[in-house]
Amino acid sequence: MKITDLKCAVIGANPVVRITTDEGIDGYAQAENSKSYLQPHVMFYRDFILGQDPRDVERVMHRIRRLGSFKPWGAAVSTIEIALWDIAGKAAGVPVYRLLGGKVRDRVRVYNGGVRFPREGDSVQAYAEEMARMKESPEGFSIIKQGVAFHSGMPKDVDGFYYGDPVNERLHLNRGAITEKGMNHLVERIAAMKEVCGDEVGLALDCGPGMMVQDAKKLAQAVEPLNISWLEDMITGDYIPYVQADLYREVTQSTTTPIHTGEQIYLRQNFADLIEKRAVDIVGPDPCDIGGIAELKWVAEYADLHGILMAPHGVIDGVFGLAALVNVCATMPANFLAFEYTTARPEWWYDIVDGLPDPIVIDSHIDVWDRPGLGVEFRVDAAKKYLSDEDATFFD
Ligand SMILES: [Mg+2]
Repeated sequence: MKITDLKCAVIGANPVVRITTDEGIDGYAQAENSKSYLQPHVMFYRDFILGQDPRDVERVMHRIRRLGSFKPWGAAVSTIEIALWDIAGKAAGVPVYRLLGGKVRDRVRVYNGGVRFPREGDSVQAYAEEMARMKESPEGFSIIKQGVAFHSGMPKDVDGFYYGDPVNERLHLNRGAITEKGMNHLVERIAAMKEVCGDEVGLALDCGPGMMVQDAKKLAQAVEPLNISWLEDMITGDYIPYVQADLYREVTQSTTTPIHTGEQIYLRQNFADLIEKRAVDIVGPDPCDIGGIAELKWVAEYADLHGILMAPHGVIDGVFGLAALVNVCATMPANFLAFEYTTARPEWWYDIVDGLPDPIVIDSHIDVWDRPGLGVEFRVDAAKKYLSDEDATFFD
């Protein structure tokens, strides 16, 4: 079997990769809907993989893996890797999870990182009410993650939140030391949300990046009595192209509150420091940024060896990203906690694919499906009408 073409279309806002073969089997994958600019980057790799056997996933990846980097510049490589697994599974007539060693669970737990309801302002009451709505959401999420501190509007909406002047521009990193007033504002809202959650729903908090080590320790210790599920990306994270494991280690060693990072990190090698130094309690790589399914699987195994838990990222990876996460998380060791439930936007995405269960989430879990490859297929006729003029030949 040989790769005959690599194509990329932006459908909705998600870059979608299609790899075609000389045996009529196609592989699909999808990158985050925040990365519609990725198309030319995906096409950069086309000449490197043409003519290769897509079933030899690792061999193909040797040609392109070093030509990527931290988020967002690992996404094109990651998406190609996932499409290769889709082909390999379809060619063998088995789900991708079977190629990864088989499943160790029949359903995978998801957490809420993206099912949101409008919040009326930023009072303690407003945070509690929003949490109550998320808790009542029909998916029955057993862990809910909320954005706070530098991962929220707090730096600009709360006067005197930190010692700095927030810059309100796309992807700008605001960093700085949090004031006493800011820290009180933060902890009061966390406490109110946790009270709504009770002990039947875990509360995780995406906090940065941008916090200073001193504040990270202070926050982690302040919320210890609340049994928070994790504090995410306090120091580095998101689009920061480095890790700073030693800083995380200092925070993690100072507290019983679980510390989490990793969604922006590309490749297993860049997790080695975090894992070997036990610098965090939980890592959260995204299959669409780390380099693909095999990288995520490897990190999960290596993390388990070091007593570190897995809570992979994926909130805007789309339906093919969801399929990748379901397949790989089904194979992870017992250190798997939950992955971030991937919602497809706009809603019509659910009308242009086959293969997803309905409803997708029951009791905070997704049943692992058994269809070959990733198990999700385009309804080509329905999907075609969302192609732009430039991408009109994507399915041809
Ligand atoms: Mg995050």
